[in-house]
Amino acid sequence: MIEVNGLHHQFLIGKRGAERRVPVLHDIDLAIEQGEIVAIVGRSGSGKSTLLHILSGYLRPTSGELRVLGQDVTKFDEGAWSRFRLERYGFMFQSFQLIPTMTAFENVELPLTLKGVAPERRRKRAYELMDRFGIADCAGHYPGELSGGQQQRVSVARALALDPPLVMADEPTGSLDSENEANLLALIRELNRERGTTFVMITHDEQVARIAHRRLLLQDGRLQPHRKEAPMIHEVF
Ligand code: ATP
Ligand code: MG
Repeated sequence: MIEVNGLHHQFLIGKRGAERRVPVLHDIDLAIEQGEIVAIVGRSGSGKSTLLHILSGYLRPTSGELRVLGQDVTKFDEGAWSRFRLERYGFMFQSFQLIPTMTAFENVELPLTLKGVAPERRRKRAYELMDRFGIADCAGHYPGELSGGQQQRVSVARALALDPPLVMADEPTGSLDSENEANLLALIRELNRERGTTFVMITHDEQVARIAHRRLLLQDGRLQPHRKEAPMIHEVF
């Protein structure tokens, strides 16, 4: 599903002419199989979001190879990545990245609109998802009129609108109360079991990590050798 070989990433920071290279990811090798739920854990600043951005094509690595669903995506340009992402990826972001000028309903409908799904089917699918997450009442609200937890549920509904084979999540339950967290985790397990959806999730939350088949621990930009049960952050530091 995802194969990473010899991946390195450095950020260039500072003023032009006086830039400094800051290495953030070192020599990452990684294989994620279809149907896996993988939790990426590690302390703040260890490179988790950077790795997720690279796996999603939002950031081009300094060096290394990346294959997703059998395709060498290393050479993809922006347009190729946009199309590939729309078809194959769902995203659950740390900050929800909802479009503030669109209603909750329009946000959920957006991937379906971009894909060219007919209006009736779009409406049906968007309402079905919003109903499932208990946000149907908020359909006409703008993101600024919603609570953090409601916004998060809108972003999750949007992520799943096209039923993607691969879902990338950065702290997906960060703003949810325990009931909604349990709902989302149950949904993730159900999609994984029934459709074989692959999940790559960054988390600090033990409840989330518990549903993963595998935990990957990043320490200072290095992936630690695989242990079936890598300890959570508070056990490491
Ligand atoms: P957190 O748990 O706090 O979200 P993280 O593990 O996701 O942390 P990253 O966001 O991947 O960490 O950041 C890793 C390192 O890269 C940090 O030292 C950060 O300052 C640096 N970094 C991240 N994005 C950039 C950027 N755009 N430019 C320069 N440095 C960056
Ligand atoms: Mg992060």
